[in-house]
Amino acid sequence: MAAPPPAPVTSAMPTVQPVADPVRVRAEVLAARAAGRRVGFVPTMGALHAGHLALVDRAAAECDEVAVSIFVNPTQFGPGEDYERYPRPLAADLAALRSRRVRWVFVPAVEAIYPPGNATRIVVEGPARGYEGDVRPGHFSGVATVVHRLLQAVPSDVAYFGAKDWQQTLVVKRMVEDLGLPIEILVCPTVREGDGLAMSSRNAYLAPADRRRAVALSESLTTAAARWSAGRSATEIAATMREVMESRGVVVDYAAVVDAESLEDAVDDRPAVALVAGRLGVTRLIDNRLLPPRVGSAR
Ligand code: AMP
Repeated sequence: MAAPPPAPVTSAMPTVQPVADPVRVRAEVLAARAAGRRVGFVPTMGALHAGHLALVDRAAAECDEVAVSIFVNPTQFGPGEDYERYPRPLAADLAALRSRRVRWVFVPAVEAIYPPGNATRIVVEGPARGYEGDVRPGHFSGVATVVHRLLQAVPSDVAYFGAKDWQQTLVVKRMVEDLGLPIEILVCPTVREGDGLAMSSRNAYLAPADRRRAVALSESLTTAAARWSAGRSATEIAATMREVMESRGVVVDYAAVVDAESLEDAVDDRPAVALVAGRLGVTRLIDNRLLPPRVGSAR
């Protein structure tokens, strides 16, 4: 899907204000809310692309004020993962946000989020088990911890997350409910390149030949959707997804069809989700596709 056009800039539009201090951003967000403004928040790790910007545009359409955070969160990367080389094109990110109706760009230092000597982590079980949770031990604890900390710094009415990271959305919703956090979590559709590849900051790592092969992930999901509606079993579909990816040289981490909310066994009368993850060279990619309930479908 092509990037949505940026909203036109008008003189009434507030200029973007990068702010590093969590105490200051919290005070300003609380003041805006006390004045009756609805605040929407889009947490990101930066290297913004059309997927991120779709979240920002949705927040701008639905809220009076928009906050975006850019923070490459060290605790969600495992040893040997790409924390050090994760792209950090801050100037380009700020330029992309400047043409949008964003009031705060929260860009904290690591020490502002994780004070020296920090020793507290949030552990989510349930939807954090399996899939990304297995391949990346500790990843969702890092995600839950940083999202909690970011929501504390940006105490907004609503936070926007991408369906691209489906399991992450389940983990965040679980944490918000379990900890009674006063915020609404909204999940927005995955934005894709023209050939179907889900947009990701990590796509920039792909060598040209691997970029062409990367379409295998979304192809495997298209195949899964067709087979799911044709009544095939989750096990059979998972095997087919794996074949589609392996035939293009993807080193598959997992391919599965599971219940969309619990990530347990899929059942016909509830939404399911096809989940895939794999590696091309040094680049790790994930994708997913929601599958509608199929009760009453031709089987
Ligand atoms: P990240 O910067 O990768 O942590 O992503 C920040 C937010 O953007 C998360 O909620 C992601 O799920 C979301 N996001 C990333 N890629 C996409 C995409 N292609 N479409 C929609 N949302 C996305």
